[in-house]
Amino acid sequence: MKRKVAVISGITGQDGAYLARLLSRQDYIIIGLTRSSHNFSKKNFVYLDIISDIIIEECDLLDFSSIIKILIKYKPDEFYNLAAQSSVGISFEQPIGTLNYNTQSVLNILESVRILQLDTKIYQASSSEMFGKVHSLPVTELTPMHPLSPYAISKASGFWIGINYRESYKVFCVNGILFNHESYLRSPNFFVKKVIRTSLEIKKGLKSELRVGNIDVKRDFGYAPDYVKAMWLSLQQDKADDYLICSGTSIYLRDIINYTLDYLNVPLSKLVEDEALFRPTDMDDMYGDNKKAKEVLGWEYNRSFFDVLDLLIEEENKNYK
Ligand code: NAP
Repeated sequence: MKRKVAVISGITGQDGAYLARLLSRQDYIIIGLTRSSHNFSKKNFVYLDIISDIIIEECDLLDFSSIIKILIKYKPDEFYNLAAQSSVGISFEQPIGTLNYNTQSVLNILESVRILQLDTKIYQASSSEMFGKVHSLPVTELTPMHPLSPYAISKASGFWIGINYRESYKVFCVNGILFNHESYLRSPNFFVKKVIRTSLEIKKGLKSELRVGNIDVKRDFGYAPDYVKAMWLSLQQDKADDYLICSGTSIYLRDIINYTLDYLNVPLSKLVEDEALFRPTDMDDMYGDNKKAKEVLGWEYNRSFFDVLDLLIEEENKNYK
């Protein structure tokens, strides 16, 4: 049987690496896109032992012709667009760069597939941040959007570009609307990774405090290796649609900190709450409804986030250098 070809943009990130591992286990030919083939970090591939399973290509998604070249060369069955400036915090410092990159890249991919008249199925990495100021919970696929950050606006824009190409040009484009999902490979500037890593460093005497912003808010957190399965499942369908991928429940950021400090025997006095780190706009609570993903995609997810924290703390502890 002919091997399927998948392109993954943002291959060096958390989701790119776990998705590549999933696809490599299914014998896909995997083309991983990175902005710089000279400077890209191989550490996630080494960690997951998939370095020989990926063909790395340099591709600037802001450069239309770079994408066209990749598509002509590989004619992929599936294209997972995971590349993005993915931090809400950074987006407040770099609103223009975030908006430009996260919207233009989506448009370029969809327009390339349309012009070349390919049957490539596209997965667009959308985000729960698009919903922002919600008036009722849980969030569903039909909840109105009121984005609260430049990142969220950029993702909402990418989301609607995907729907427009689906409806206007019949391009197969799925929006996977993912809530926060964590793993050992998460970048260190994200909350859960920062809490675990810093707590470990305090325990080892390398840091003196864990400094955080507003932790009296609740969020829906899950486990990245399980969430990439939903991405893949969404492209195995006959029809393109939008799916919320989430755990279905929320947890206080304060509880994540308390649990981690307690697990590592670090005193609570090391926690410093700093109003300077509060976001300009924030929501008290946010969680989603994963019924559609479970029913239509057959996706399974039943983990409590405290169980995920156990895995993450152990993995961080084991690999800490
Ligand atoms: P990540 O670890 O931050 O990786 C994103 C990748 O995008 C990077 O490895 C980078 O690869 C590439 N990139 C391209 N342009 C960039 C830019 N201007 N700034 C920074 N990186 C850029 O992201 P992730 O956690 O794997 O998430 C994958 C996708 O899902 C992203 O689109 C994210 O917004 C979305 N998402 C994630 C979550 C989550 O909880 N993780 C939730 C909802 C949505 P190169 O440098 O090699 O090009």
